[in-house]
Amino acid sequence: MRLILLGPPGAGKGTQAANIVTKYNLPHISTGDIFRANIKQGTELGTRAKAYMDKGELVPDSLVVELVEDRLSKDDTQVGFMLDGFPRTIYQAEALDAVLGNMGTSIDHVINIVVDPTVLVERAVGRRICKNCGATYHVSFNPPAEEGVCDKCSGELYQRSDDNEETVSNRISVYTNETAPLVEYYEKSGKIRTIDGLQDIDKVFSDIEKVLK
Ligand code: ADP
Ligand code: ADP
Ligand code: ZN
Repeated sequence: MRLILLGPPGAGKGTQAANIVTKYNLPHISTGDIFRANIKQGTELGTRAKAYMDKGELVPDSLVVELVEDRLSKDDTQVGFMLDGFPRTIYQAEALDAVLGNMGTSIDHVINIVVDPTVLVERAVGRRICKNCGATYHVSFNPPAEEGVCDKCSGELYQRSDDNEETVSNRISVYTNETAPLVEYYEKSGKIRTIDGLQDIDKVFSDIEKVLK
């Protein structure tokens, strides 16, 4: 199964991606996670990406597309994949279609998580992530049993440096201008399904399961 998760920052893509990849046994490909790993390792790609991420702007298409092409050429994607945070521009979507076309495949489902824009800042600013396993929490909406500690692995939770009000607001406008047009792009292929992301995390997942079964 080849899937794309679409939705603004804070919509719940990462949270649902974690559920989806566990149930369907797919590799989780998050371009944001790949950039953050590169920043942590101090690679050149990480340094270049960080300048854009800190401002809440998109990393240039040229840097992103090559990275995803490279990732999709790995053997583990033979069974399918879950793309989270990619594509984010029409250019990226066209590049993805071209790459998959060359491989003789295509996307099966695009899941569009829709939420009222007023909740996005609160969701992103309250987001906490495990340093060790990457699990996502929210200080109010999905808190861990013990504050600052991961339920799954007891790792330490941290807040992303771009999850502050100013940067999140910019990311939301970038989403509206650059990424929202992808909804129409994928409507043309008839593969996009809208999911109400304002529901509880479990209910959002059960709606996604209905689309995927
Ligand atoms: P995205 O990957 O789309 O930016 P995340 O999955 O990281 O979004 O979710 C953003 C924040 O909102 C996280 O703190 C997460 O715990 C929380 N969250 C995710 N889904 C829901 C939901 N359905 N209801 C309330 N909070 C949610
Ligand atoms: P969120 O789901 O909260 O928006 P991500 O982890 O997906 O966060 O992305 C964090 C940042 O990484 C983005 O604000 C952007 O700077 C960069 N980024 C991630 N994926 C892409 C992409 N496909 N194209 C351009 N920039 C990207
Ligand atoms: Zn953890």
